[in-house]
Amino acid sequence: MSANTFSYWERTAFIDNADIIIIGSGIVGLSAALHLKQQQPALKVLVLERGFLPTGASTKNAGFACFGTVSEQVAYLKDAPEEEVARLVNYKWRGLQRLRENLGDANIEYYQHGGYELFMDGETALADERIEQIPYINNLLKNAIGKTDIYSVANAKIAAFGFKGVSRMIYNPFEGQLHTGKMMRALLNKVYHLGVLVLNGCEIQQIENEEAHISLRTSQGRFKAGKVILATNAFANQLFPELKVVPGRGQVLVTKPIPDLKLKGTYHFDEGYYYFRNIDNRVLFGGGRNIDFNSEETWEFGHTEEVKAKLTHYLKEMILPDQSFEIDYWWSGIMGFGDDISPIVKEVEPNIFCAVRCNGMGVAMGSLVGEEVAKLAL
Ligand SMILES: Cc1cc2nc3c(=O)[nH]c(=O)nc-3n(C[C@H](O)[C@H](O)[C@H](O)COP(=O)(O)OP(=O)(O)OC[C@H]3O[C@@H](n4cnc5c(N)ncnc54)[C@H](O)[C@@H]3O)c2cc1C
Repeated sequence: MSANTFSYWERTAFIDNADIIIIGSGIVGLSAALHLKQQQPALKVLVLERGFLPTGASTKNAGFACFGTVSEQVAYLKDAPEEEVARLVNYKWRGLQRLRENLGDANIEYYQHGGYELFMDGETALADERIEQIPYINNLLKNAIGKTDIYSVANAKIAAFGFKGVSRMIYNPFEGQLHTGKMMRALLNKVYHLGVLVLNGCEIQQIENEEAHISLRTSQGRFKAGKVILATNAFANQLFPELKVVPGRGQVLVTKPIPDLKLKGTYHFDEGYYYFRNIDNRVLFGGGRNIDFNSEETWEFGHTEEVKAKLTHYLKEMILPDQSFEIDYWWSGIMGFGDDISPIVKEVEPNIFCAVRCNGMGVAMGSLVGEEVAKLAL
């Protein structure tokens, strides 16, 4: 389709004259749009999204409002200095506060039921090592989130949740959960209200830096703007191959409603590679990317029998061992990872900026990452 097929009315009302075009309508792209309009209400901001809905991670995730388990902090400390790990926790914490301020807890169904890290029967030595590290990690992170006693032992609650094969549990009362679909709708409503235009079904195929403007070749024709923000996360190097972002698929299931569901909160195990929570009397459960990193390093949505079998096994044997339940359906989402645990926010070419690679933590970080790139573009 060529740009010439647009009518005069379409061109003047929808297509032409954007000051800034944002590519990708996930949490980062929309948070960037929000900040741009809050700072400069007259700015013409256009968001172009290739999916019918946002089609990456922002409407596919688990909705954990979290900043890491003890095991995740210990794993980060192997590769990064203490200050960097504390800085990242502070960034996620502030990102979550900004998300809640921007959208309101009621609109995103935010609840702070707390989070738990689980250790299996065969992991008692590892669990005891992590438990010994709690005072050190609590001290390291106390300024990052302004709270003491972040993590504590919660073995006494294991039986009440009905888990089987779980030997130890660490509790974090500052972890929350939200409805990620309602979060994205609230964000869309907010940017629409400020005058941002979001067009779906428009895939950007090429970005050309021309002298007077940036020109975008898309599946719907050609668009032009003074500046462009790339917020395509896992898919970033489809347009800029030099960006160091590796895709990682996450597979997720949700059960049908379960009467008298005992669990309430967010739960992680195996260094965060598996995660589950309650939602509307159901269990949402995802993970298993570590079963075969290579096959999950993909831009393709979908499932593998290995991951489905593992998740089903844990659900039956460990999470809901004495309850009958049915899996309702499955989905997947694609995250953007890299060796460095921080996102990439920078000018990639004159007047082209990127904000990508939330490393599977974009619910927590996305609001600030979007804000940062908006500041850079302004
Ligand atoms: C299964 C799963 C569970 C997760 N759980 C959590 C969690 O509990 N807590 C947490 O903090 N984080 C979680 N995450 C991570 C979080 O969802 C992401 O970090 C975050 O959504 C990234 O937001 P984004 O806006 O950068 O990217 P995305 O939401 O992926 O948005 C990028 C958008 O760009 C669009 N796009 C791509 N290429 C083009 C193109 N060429 N033209 C036009 N549009 C394009 C895509 O369609 C997509 O909508 C999870 C992710 C997954 C997949």
